[in-house]
Amino acid sequence: MLDTSLELSSTKHDNPNIKKIYGQFKSEISEELEKFHVPGKQNSMRTKQLWNWTFLGGVTEFSEINNMPKELLNQLSKNYTLSRNSIAKEQKSNDGTMKWLIDLESENNSTNNQIETVFIPEEKRGTLCISSQIGCTLNCTFCHTGTQKLVRNLTAAEIVSQLLIAKDRLNDWHKNNPNNVRKITNVVMMGMGEPLYNFEAVKKALQIMTDFDGLALSKRRITLSTSGIVPYIERVGNEIGVSLAVSLHAAKDEIRDILVPINKKYPLRELINACENYPRIKNSSKITFEYVMLKDINDSLEDAKDLIKILSNIPSKINLIPFNPWPGSNYMCSDMKKIREFAKVLLDAGFSSPIRKPRGQDILAACGQLKSETIRLKIKK
Ligand code: SF4
Repeated sequence: MLDTSLELSSTKHDNPNIKKIYGQFKSEISEELEKFHVPGKQNSMRTKQLWNWTFLGGVTEFSEINNMPKELLNQLSKNYTLSRNSIAKEQKSNDGTMKWLIDLESENNSTNNQIETVFIPEEKRGTLCISSQIGCTLNCTFCHTGTQKLVRNLTAAEIVSQLLIAKDRLNDWHKNNPNNVRKITNVVMMGMGEPLYNFEAVKKALQIMTDFDGLALSKRRITLSTSGIVPYIERVGNEIGVSLAVSLHAAKDEIRDILVPINKKYPLRELINACENYPRIKNSSKITFEYVMLKDINDSLEDAKDLIKILSNIPSKINLIPFNPWPGSNYMCSDMKKIREFAKVLLDAGFSSPIRKPRGQDILAACGQLKSETIRLKIKK
């Protein structure tokens, strides 16, 4: 590990009645301004100014805004804030991956209120992996997060806040970067939690992130990953319109029932059918299938052939993920030779099947390793 953890503290806003500006749609901000008697044209101008300062300027205090009436900003500051959630810890891996442990507000002062957000820099892009829940209900047996009970769903503001925090820490704001060469180019909803069990907040957050007057992230550069909550899959395509990834990990129900237990509720036949009908497929978008390589569990050539069979009608990319062990995990990673053979069978059948390079392993930031620090400390005791 290059840069060991930094303990950081930032302004806390623990008053639950104070709303975050960046968790609001433009229409909601406009309604609020109407309450302050900001009329018609002026209202849309002020809304846009506030939106620009928030999402292009990256301001964290109303006092930094210099082209809006002070009185209006004062009124807004009584009910709204631009401050972020606090960073409890920042870590940087020797491969450049960064991870933030973020404190969220809790009603009863519970300590189980932390999430993790990870930035993975690559040559041509920078991907931010965002969490949607504190903990998870789904208990996928290869996943460290799955061992942490669900505490609660995140709000839309808490989801957007992760992107703003990463932009703050990476100095990735438009004002510092007039040529608009972004460090964060892609967002993946693959952190802690099942995003489709927090559908409305995730939808709102992604709609805010893609709004053209603000962060303007392209929908093609956002991927929502689900373990297979079938009834919501069509809605992701129709209502959010981002790329879809599915945590598949097995091509037979008897294996997937163990690895991804939600499979007992939504078995492979239903999941594959939902993917075949995913609205964005018609626009020639591929669905990404995540497949963690577990020694002697799902890594035989027979498994590869089963995978080809079930995905035959879906434009697919299959990401092969060498298993990232975590303390207490019961699985082992498949041998590299076996993973390459597995990938070749898929490739020969016409599937793009990259083997994912493990990133941020030294700071437990790799896929399936996220878990809040509080829980880890409790386990160590
Ligand atoms: S893989 Fe995703 S859905 Fe499954 S336990 Fe982990 S965080 Fe939850």
